[in-house]
Amino acid sequence: MARALVLGAGISGHTCAAFLRKWLGKSDEVTVVSPLPTYNWIPSNIWVGVGLIKREQVLFPLAPVYENKQIIFKQAKALSIHPEGTSENPAPFVEIEWTLPSRKSEREFVYYDFLVNATGPKLKFEATEGLGPGKNSYSVCTADHASETAQAFLHLVEQMKKGERKRFIVGTGHGSCTCEGAAFEYVVNLEFELRARGVRDKAEIVYLSNEYELGDFGMDGIFIRRSGYITPSKIFTESLFAERGISWITRAHVAQVEKNRLHYETLEGEQRDQDFDFAMLLPPFSGVGLKAFDRQGNELTADVFAPSGFMKVDADYTPKPYLEWRARDWPRFYVNPKYSNIFATGIAFAPPHPVSRPHIGRNGTPIFAAPPRTGMPSAMIGKAVAHSIADIVHGSPEPTHTACMAEIGAACVASAGANPFTGTAASMTVFPIVPDFEKYPQYGRDLNYTSGEIGLAGHWIKIILHHMFLYKAHLRPGWSLIPE
Ligand SMILES: Cc1cc2nc3c(=O)[nH]c(=O)nc-3n(C[C@H](O)[C@H](O)[C@H](O)COP(=O)(O)OP(=O)(O)OC[C@H]3O[C@@H](n4cnc5c(N)ncnc54)[C@H](O)[C@@H]3O)c2cc1C
Repeated sequence: MARALVLGAGISGHTCAAFLRKWLGKSDEVTVVSPLPTYNWIPSNIWVGVGLIKREQVLFPLAPVYENKQIIFKQAKALSIHPEGTSENPAPFVEIEWTLPSRKSEREFVYYDFLVNATGPKLKFEATEGLGPGKNSYSVCTADHASETAQAFLHLVEQMKKGERKRFIVGTGHGSCTCEGAAFEYVVNLEFELRARGVRDKAEIVYLSNEYELGDFGMDGIFIRRSGYITPSKIFTESLFAERGISWITRAHVAQVEKNRLHYETLEGEQRDQDFDFAMLLPPFSGVGLKAFDRQGNELTADVFAPSGFMKVDADYTPKPYLEWRARDWPRFYVNPKYSNIFATGIAFAPPHPVSRPHIGRNGTPIFAAPPRTGMPSAMIGKAVAHSIADIVHGSPEPTHTACMAEIGAACVASAGANPFTGTAASMTVFPIVPDFEKYPQYGRDLNYTSGEIGLAGHWIKIILHHMFLYKAHLRPGWSLIPE
């Protein structure tokens, strides 16, 4: 009997656990440890954040789904990993602390043969003074954040209907943020909703970002071949914003957010202020803070995790100048180099280097987008790791399946207005996600599989994806046939 333990029930961990259950034998055990009782289809938080759908429409309880599939679910958070067990018992285990109200704060050791760390990001609002829910800005990173954001947004809409003018700022709340795609999607949805609610003329909308150019998205931008021209994503994004009357500030690191004013620093080292009535600013990410210990109880955290708190896997982490980084530095099997039975998937693995060109401001502040950590690769990595673990259990000496971000593509449909008749979406594909300049010397990517379109059809695809991925996450009949 093999015991597979998955930490985290997000896009990556949930996919991994579901496929482990499918591919492992009946006598093998699959356990998921995750602190929240619900699954959140995070991409649709954008629509919750502008008040179009309710938080309940992007959440569902995990326990019944796992019970139905014979996956053991422990509603708890992982605290520490003990890959060598203890001096009395060499069996590896994870110490967890229950969050289920009936067992709150109870601690337990969960033993494993294979461990998958899919704990996603810690939302590091504290990196910027005054940033985040409960302080001076809003977020759409969780369903609860998005719900609160919608309330504030709708409240302002009411004031605008009475004739008041308002300034909205959307973007990244720190120079080292990732996930610019989510901020981009939120700003265009917000603009659309203000128009739909008849108050667009009362609003000034500003997009504020750590990207060097608009359309960088942490991927150093992309090039798209359209109508015989090669268009950089900078032009694609700038024209989209210009058409919608959204102004932008790039190369910015937000240093402080006050009640209605934020302070930011530019790459040139200038300190600037911006007043606002509403700010939705993403936080930077780090690992969730798991610790690791050897059998004597000595801390191993620095061996297993990168300084960012993300877990080290089979990537080349040797520090190198930007121009010496290679596509092959990116991990393929997501296995920890020290412990071959520990994997890290989705956002939880440590990227070997940024994809966007690093820029350090005049004052020494790094201001550039961190590597993209999107849902499609997170799910693909979760599935590949489940495949590898199942193959090892069935006799393979090593992991068998890869999902290297320098070898796989991703598709992203960013809704730009959610209405079945007048809405639009920006549909983008990119191959590979991490550019490979050895294989594709000119652009780093294969332009036959890298595309960008905007139109109503994309919005319909976005609606279909919302329902299809929630169906899949419920593990309803045929779920495994739906692609990641
Ligand atoms: C607003 C928004 C919109 C987005 N839109 C898109 C999109 O349109 N397309 C796209 O491809 N991507 C999108 N993304 C990115 C996508 O959501 C992420 O890439 C994806 O959720 C990452 O999956 P994950 O499983 O690694 O992490 P998560 O989905 O964050 O899951 C992490 C899990 O780990 C759990 N956890 C945390 N700490 C612990 C602990 N100590 N022990 C155990 N479990 C723990 C969490 O509760 C959670 O269940 C968006 C992101 C945001 C914020």
